[in-house]
Amino acid sequence: MTDATAPKLIDGRELAQAVRDEVRAAINDWTDEGHRPPFLSAVLVGDNAASEAYVRGKEKDAAEVGIDTNTHHLDADTSQSALLDLVHNLNADPSVDGLLVQLPLPDHIDEQTVIDAVDPSKDVDGFHPENLGRLLRGTPRYIPATPYGIMEMLSRSNVDTEGMDAVVVGRSNIVGKPLANLLLRRTANATVTVCHSRTRDLAAHTRRADLLVAAAGQAAFIDGDMVTEGAVVIDVGINRVEDASTERGYRLVGDVDFDDVRPKAARITPVPGGVGLMTRAMLLKNTLQAARLRAEGS
Ligand code: NAD
Repeated sequence: MTDATAPKLIDGRELAQAVRDEVRAAINDWTDEGHRPPFLSAVLVGDNAASEAYVRGKEKDAAEVGIDTNTHHLDADTSQSALLDLVHNLNADPSVDGLLVQLPLPDHIDEQTVIDAVDPSKDVDGFHPENLGRLLRGTPRYIPATPYGIMEMLSRSNVDTEGMDAVVVGRSNIVGKPLANLLLRRTANATVTVCHSRTRDLAAHTRRADLLVAAAGQAAFIDGDMVTEGAVVIDVGINRVEDASTERGYRLVGDVDFDDVRPKAARITPVPGGVGLMTRAMLLKNTLQAARLRAEGS
């Protein structure tokens, strides 16, 4: 159910700021109790411009809320075993609460092996199989930041997902699959359909959606014809499209054709200024959670 009086735009900037303010207040209480500030260690391999920008954003957000960070920047030709050695050292380092390895990794490194090597109690991305299993079972330790952020955006915007037909476009391990699980939980109670690149008639599914989440990585490919009147539309996609009028030569767009879909949607998230900012904010929440878990000795 959607609240007809609520503003149409779900503003990621405002909501993410609210989350950061809450995390900062909780960290102040935490340090007032005599604990050291939470510590997040990030590992970045190579010089993927988008990954570097993501890590810089995470460092900036962390500093704002009182989380200490350290980024290990390794050369693109770093061997898998050297990367695993670093991960094992950070796993064993008691000063490190949260640990993440920025994806994607260079082709010669097997991402799954690296994800599996992260200590699940420090795995603030929530990608380790133990944490994904806990999520599936309904007893999560860390919820991956993007689906976690989407659930927060919905609840903070008073979107009641109970009984909704939710259609998630995209079945990745970091967005589509965990989000589908969160929407299925008894706390959300949506009826969930997950679509993907082999879905036969995508529009037939998306048109049925009360809640449509686009996470396919295809620029502006959900248009107004694919959306029913009054739907809540969450755009996860971050796609670069060429734009000679900008200084960088490109601009960022979502998976949703915003101008076409906005008139029909009851609520909609923009790109930029939507899910991406909430994703960053939820990582901070997970890092505080990591510090608490470490203090409890679990
Ligand atoms: P991915 O490439 O791992 O998965 C994409 C999924 O979309 C696949 O399951 C594929 O089957 C499906 N898909 C692709 N084309 C499709 C089509 N035409 N019709 C239906 N399904 C299709 O991607 P991902 O890592 O889940 O990321 C998806 C998008 O979300 C990307 O644009 C990525 O940059 C963005 N992203 C944003 C955030 C954020 O914080 N906002 C976080 C993670 C990813």
